[in-house]
Amino acid sequence: MTGTRFTRREVVRAAASIGGLAALAPLAPLSAQDSAAPLPNLTEFRRLIAANRILARENVVDAFGHVSVRDPREPDRYVMSRSRSPELIEFEDLMEFRLDGTPVEARGRTPYGERMIHGAIYAARSDVNAVVHNHSYAVLPFTVAETRLRPVIHMASIIGAQIPVWDIRAAFGDTDMLVRTMDQGRSLAGTLGRNTCVLMRGHGAVVVGPGVKEVVMTSFYLQVNAQVQLQALGLGEITPLSSAEIVLSHETQFSPLAIDRAWEYFCQRAGVDPV
Ligand code: MN
Repeated sequence: MTGTRFTRREVVRAAASIGGLAALAPLAPLSAQDSAAPLPNLTEFRRLIAANRILARENVVDAFGHVSVRDPREPDRYVMSRSRSPELIEFEDLMEFRLDGTPVEARGRTPYGERMIHGAIYAARSDVNAVVHNHSYAVLPFTVAETRLRPVIHMASIIGAQIPVWDIRAAFGDTDMLVRTMDQGRSLAGTLGRNTCVLMRGHGAVVVGPGVKEVVMTSFYLQVNAQVQLQALGLGEITPLSSAEIVLSHETQFSPLAIDRAWEYFCQRAGVDPV
């Protein structure tokens, strides 16, 4: 039997004669076509995949939450995954959108319902190239309490001095709490203003930055700061960073020495190659 050989045609014919395989046969090229990434293999896009995995690994996002990057080739477009949990996202899940939230090429994929958050912010802030939306459990108490979240530890200087809270009900009445329209996105972007973070009452947070690494690091330390501030409040009066400390520490945190070291660490923990 060791000398038995089949031609390619014989194998295909044999496979076609078996019901299951015959049914599978035409799926192969379709599947290959579906998974062919329409986006080029740019560093920014690979980094976006890493960001999704990191934010999931660090519990900044769970089944929900998302991260996007402005397309470096087309500033009026941004890229994010199709509607899928961040921990599971692959390169072929990435979709491109115009700033009004319309997909450039949907190919049957379902986008995130809250993508308008991202487009509205990219439209309002030319300095922003990456956006994270999350429902971090540690941050949530500060979206509903009177006590404001403010940077209390040096690693969190990057969250900025002012962290406004946006309440969807103020302008839109009772809703399902999701940012579903560009009007709602623009309202949120307006409350964000020139800040780095904005909290959403009873919902979560949005973090913006000049790049993917920065928004990941900021989202992570927004969460850590919230944990620390909540613990410290139980001990009594708290001392936040001064305005000057925020500026000086921010520079240090975003220096290549610090951010590249953090990025390598985050990637390693998330099981992705640093990009
Ligand atoms: Mn949300």
